[in-house]
Amino acid sequence: MTPSPNDSPAAPNAQDSPAAHPRPSTTPTTPEDFAGNLAAVRSRLEAAAERAGREASEIRLLPVSKTVPEERLRAAVAAGITQMGENKVQEAKRKSENLADLPIHWALIGHLQTNKARDAAAFAHEFQALDSLRVAEALDRRLQALGRSLDVYVQVNSSGEASKFGLEPADVPAFLAALPAYSSLRVRGLMTLAAHTDDTSRVRACFTTMRELRDAGLQAGAVGDGQLSMGMSGDFEIAIEEGSTCVRVGQAIFGARPAGGEHWAGPRRA
Ligand SMILES: *Cc1c(COP(=O)(O)O)cnc(C)c1O
Repeated sequence: MTPSPNDSPAAPNAQDSPAAHPRPSTTPTTPEDFAGNLAAVRSRLEAAAERAGREASEIRLLPVSKTVPEERLRAAVAAGITQMGENKVQEAKRKSENLADLPIHWALIGHLQTNKARDAAAFAHEFQALDSLRVAEALDRRLQALGRSLDVYVQVNSSGEASKFGLEPADVPAFLAALPAYSSLRVRGLMTLAAHTDDTSRVRACFTTMRELRDAGLQAGAVGDGQLSMGMSGDFEIAIEEGSTCVRVGQAIFGARPAGGEHWAGPRRA
């Protein structure tokens, strides 16, 4: 099967049509399947970097393995994947335990509740969705107790969509200024999910906002080395053109997730 072409303009009421986001139609299971998907993503990444006059080597590809079962993750590792992004602590913790024999760097990329800070502090290698000082405080306390430190990215709601976590852009400078109080958190940069729309100018505007926030943060010496985690399967080329240094790619590598589309965050639990 081939992915459906993506060359027709969106119909007036089809702005969130999943068909507009190219994705593989098969479910990769073997190392060869994963190698093929990875090669396709890497060539898209390299083409976008070239268009932007950037070095592809300065853009990290973070495969997002959420909802993918462990046996398929073993095949992905056999194809050369060494880092995985997960949006839910319990799922990530289980996978990190069951795949502890493999050298995987685990990146938590989803909103964290303070009562999960202890679990996150124990196994995560980085946390890309810091969005409150309460969570910073809870993580710092747990990390101090373990003698660990953690790379963190501050999540920004660059689209204004109510469904998305993250700080309002206007609140970012003061938030960054407060983070040095939490000495076990190593601030690396900012993270966002762009507007969920086929209107590429709106998507691009989210990424531009992020770059400007990052540049201001660098001037203030408040955003570590100024990494920008932005771009997913459907929009990572635009993110690279706007300065992304880390693209988080799920479905283009692991295949389509079950119902709910690319922003599916799993069933809500009390
Ligand atoms: C699921 C997810 C992604 C990856 O989305 P795809 O559309 O599968 O590429 C990236 N970032 C976050 C925070 C996610 O939850």
